[in-house]
Amino acid sequence: MPIEPVKKIWMDGRLVDWDDATIHILSHGLHYGSGVFEGVRAYDTKRGAAVFRLNDHIRRLFRSAHMYFMEIPFTQEELVDAVADTIRENGLSACYIRPLVYRGYAEMGLNPLPAPVNVSVAAWPWGLYLGEESVEAGVRAKISSWKRNDHNTLPPMAKATGQYINSSLAKVEALKGGYDEAIMLNHAGYVTDGSGENVFIVKDGVLFTPPLSAGCLDGITRDSIIAIARDQGYEVVERNLSRFDLYAADEAFFTGTAAEVVPIREVDDRQLGSNGRGPVTKELQGIFLGVTGGEIEKYQGWLTYVTG
Ligand code: PMP
Repeated sequence: MPIEPVKKIWMDGRLVDWDDATIHILSHGLHYGSGVFEGVRAYDTKRGAAVFRLNDHIRRLFRSAHMYFMEIPFTQEELVDAVADTIRENGLSACYIRPLVYRGYAEMGLNPLPAPVNVSVAAWPWGLYLGEESVEAGVRAKISSWKRNDHNTLPPMAKATGQYINSSLAKVEALKGGYDEAIMLNHAGYVTDGSGENVFIVKDGVLFTPPLSAGCLDGITRDSIIAIARDQGYEVVERNLSRFDLYAADEAFFTGTAAEVVPIREVDDRQLGSNGRGPVTKELQGIFLGVTGGEIEKYQGWLTYVTG
């Protein structure tokens, strides 16, 4: 889905016109992938636009930056305000938000430290990453032949731009094979995550998801779904999953900010037990929608209202 332009993008403390939001061709981030980013969503609620778990996203951005010795020249509060300003300035309600911290233009070479650290926040209306129809019909996933980068190559818990070239290889392989999404294994052969989503399975009424030690991102949607499922009385177990666990699952689903909660109906051409959206997936999807829509009092703390 092409990006839908809006009026302004926040760059280093100023709101600039969409078409002027450009950087120098010799920026370090462009040559060596030295950037960290977030993907955040705001939802249209009765009380205006509400950003889901904004503080948690900004905290993760700072953790990613710390990993790469990037000193963000703004405080977490200032970036929270930057997100709110960007949404308000563009008159958006439901939108996707992309905060980006990147190394700018200084010296050429692998040492990123001389390069300035720049920050931008863009927001635009964006539908579901895996397609609106994926919500009910589910998607077909393929186990990638590409292994996920691990803790001692490029730490999976850091959301760095350069690291995503690995996930892109997996995504392209899946798409060219006629699948919707890739699932990546770690070097020990256990499931990590999708190219941009965490993975859950349901077996005999229990939810399983890989532990962070397997090398997946500490997804904010993952964390939310674990909390919601436990509140609903489900047992949620974080343990290593093999590809067999996926094939033999009653249900499986992806979670992520861009994708939200999406059923997986097939893995490597093997139909899962539910053949589409299973009952547990449907229940959690429904609650997640209620939570992000500001309709469930208990989870109001996850929402930052920025308009209205
Ligand atoms: N895994 C990977 C590799 C991702 O890129 C993402 C998207 N940020 C996720 C999982 C899901 O994380 P979140 O729920 O925080 O968006």
